[in-house]
Amino acid sequence: MRSTRIKAAGAAILLSMSLVACGGGDDEGGDAEVVEDAEFEAGTTMAEIADAGTIKVGTKFDQPGFGLLNLEDEPEGFDVEVAKIIAGALGISEGDIEWSEATSDIREQVIEDGAVDMVVATYTINDERKQRITFAGPYYEAGQMIMTLADNDAYEGPEDIAENPDDKVCSVTGSTPAVNIEEYLASPDQLVLFDIYDKCADALANGQVDVVTTDNVILAGFVSESDGEFKLVGEQFTEEPYGIGIAKGDVEFCEFINETLKENEDRYNEAWEETAGQVEGSEAPTLPEAEACS
Ligand code: GLU
Repeated sequence: MRSTRIKAAGAAILLSMSLVACGGGDDEGGDAEVVEDAEFEAGTTMAEIADAGTIKVGTKFDQPGFGLLNLEDEPEGFDVEVAKIIAGALGISEGDIEWSEATSDIREQVIEDGAVDMVVATYTINDERKQRITFAGPYYEAGQMIMTLADNDAYEGPEDIAENPDDKVCSVTGSTPAVNIEEYLASPDQLVLFDIYDKCADALANGQVDVVTTDNVILAGFVSESDGEFKLVGEQFTEEPYGIGIAKGDVEFCEFINETLKENEDRYNEAWEETAGQVEGSEAPTLPEAEACS
């Protein structure tokens, strides 16, 4: 698995080089706009971040298409580009973003601790999480699916998990799919949890687990990297609207993020095409209507 992933990362680098080469100018795409001399009302999070000249962003480092560390140790993917759009509106260029890995189980914690200014990390908006943090967005609508080895004919959807009670299903601690899948299990022993999805993909390739479950777009990224080894199975069976996690109650920052995404819809569309849109069978999203900030 490692070698195919490294090859895929190499291909992505070549691709981004060619995009730069034929881009030629800022207005031809490839980069989020960086606002010069951005000014904000004193005391707001926007003013604090703009004054600091840097923004701390939590994202995923193992998810092809959304947030994946490349060979230069820089994250790339749709979430990473969404974060760059927001940073740019605060006057911060991508070289001044401080990235850290926000695995599923630590996302609320790093926001509460102030270790990051925002989390953009395939992060489903839900009421439980809203008790601890505020979400801007949604900026994308995903849905949970299952993935198996391409030659496994035992699965048509999550209902078949209980039909195969000796099989193991892999997901990630602190994720919504790990909870949503419980009702489909014959027994809790079927569920194997890691901290990142990359480990589930390796466990599937090694035959240690039979099914991996999480959001369709995350699984599609692993399928596209697998050289025909993995496949997506059936239909999506949940709704996972992705939000941007920020400190609880920071309504001004939340509204600023929503307005920024709306104003930068062209860049949002381009960013999709350059990242997750490269995955075979992917469908270009339309920026969803934002929820009210609270
Ligand atoms: N969107 C789901 C969640 O927020 C699954 C993806 C993830 O774990 O990042 O839990």
